Amino acid sequence: MRIDRHRLIGVVAAGIMALALPAAARTAPGGAKAEVVRGVEARAKLAQVISDQLFSYAELGFQETETARYLTTLLEKEGFTVERGVAGLPTGWVARWTNGSGGPVIALGSDIDGIPKASQTPGIPWRQPMVEGGPGHGEGHNSGQALNIVAALAVRDWMVRTNTPGTLVLWPGVAEELLGGKAYLVREGVFKGVDAAIFTHVASQLATGWGQPSGTGMVSVEYTFKGESAHAAGAPWRGRSALDGVIAMANGWEMRREHLRPEQRSHYVISDGGDQPNVVPSQAKIWFYLREQSFDAIATMLKTADDIADGAAKISSTTVSRRLLGTAAIQHFNRPMAEAAQANIVAVGMPKWDADDQAFAKAVQANVGATVHDGLETELAKLGPPPAKPASGGSDDVGDVSWTVPTITLRYPSNIPGLPGHNWTNAIAMATPIAHKGVEAGARVMAMTIVDLLTRPKLLADARAYFRDVQNKDQHYIPVLASDDAPATWLNAETMARYQPDLAKRYYDPQRYGSYLEQLRVKWPTLGTGPAEAK
Ligand SMILES: [Zn+2]
Repeated sequence: MRIDRHRLIGVVAAGIMALALPAAARTAPGGAKAEVVRGVEARAKLAQVISDQLFSYAELGFQETETARYLTTLLEKEGFTVERGVAGLPTGWVARWTNGSGGPVIALGSDIDGIPKASQTPGIPWRQPMVEGGPGHGEGHNSGQALNIVAALAVRDWMVRTNTPGTLVLWPGVAEELLGGKAYLVREGVFKGVDAAIFTHVASQLATGWGQPSGTGMVSVEYTFKGESAHAAGAPWRGRSALDGVIAMANGWEMRREHLRPEQRSHYVISDGGDQPNVVPSQAKIWFYLREQSFDAIATMLKTADDIADGAAKISSTTVSRRLLGTAAIQHFNRPMAEAAQANIVAVGMPKWDADDQAFAKAVQANVGATVHDGLETELAKLGPPPAKPASGGSDDVGDVSWTVPTITLRYPSNIPGLPGHNWTNAIAMATPIAHKGVEAGARVMAMTIVDLLTRPKLLADARAYFRDVQNKDQHYIPVLASDDAPATWLNAETMARYQPDLAKRYYDPQRYGSYLEQLRVKWPTLGTGPAEAK
């Protein structure tokens, strides 16, 4: 088997400059926070337009072309300096805005990609795709950039008025569903000189956390088997089936699975199974996500998969090579930053849901077999310590950012509790008043927390100290990417090309319609169980 890299080199994050705060920036925190919250409220319309617009683009990972064009154009108009095509990602960008000289550098990120086959009409509580078989925002990644942008613009105005120095850096999570982008941004040095990063992710709560959360880090890796074609009936003994190699690898993995830690998660699809049955497949591919909870365990799991691939190649007399398609480090979030954000979460509180919001949420929960049935969250969660033994689960490549600079994730309540995730049901609320109210609440917390980071040098110092002395005490960042790995930008290209013309007919037109629901003529709230055939 050809593997040209086992170069897992520990890298400690770059040093961060200590920064003094000029006297002019010392506005009363209460006053400053009230001011940026007013700035967010004044931009509620902008946040709705951005969320609805991105929902209508419904673009899959690596193909977020319209989304990137729209967001970068908007940020340029607002005075940000935009760099496009960052880190070999055609849809990657970084937008920077600086006031004065020096001052903290704060990075705000959020994902932008959708989910295959998750097309769904927003505001309809039963299955009703907008484009049959098409992609959709079945994870709610249409909303986080709206939150970040309105918070950044509110803070920008306050920084200008009070002469507060600092830099705001906005960046997208490209192809997060493929764990395909953030490690490349890290490798490219996008976070060099950044003092603190706040990442936003849609949820049903307004919350944050510190330490290692439940979940996993992972590698996404595809094994390509090569054999020899032959007439599958006339001369099968002349052929060597690459599909046999794939199936042997899958079976080998299933045998090994029982002897892996229960916390591991691993799954695969056969991404190429050959062409047609009467031709012995000369090429076949199997694509794995391998997930574990420490850098070492992830490296061991990848080695195990390589060994099983080698065995499968021997069994089938084929050859095998592997290609890295994505990676996500385990996550670790910053305690001082989380505590600062939590104080702002408590000050902001959950959105004021009205009876329509709650009736709609309950209708969705009843129709889709949700795990809870009491509507939207109304109580804030407490900020607790991290789990002593984190449960297993999904991954997010914000992990790579979190091992590069002090980072937190702010979760905001734009979706309905109890949904399965990565599913059309998770798209239902994402261009409705529920999503819009959740984004606005999150943007208030974000703006207030940026004010904390810009005006409290001790907070930044504490964040650095936690990062250095607590987070990095027992393990360090081990990037999986080698210098010759490149983003898997071909993924989703064919799917997006197939559906984009149909999606384009339904792009949101904010010049003509007050909301996407209005454009789609969806009554709010639409309740009930829908037409019989929809069930
Ligand atoms: Zn996500």
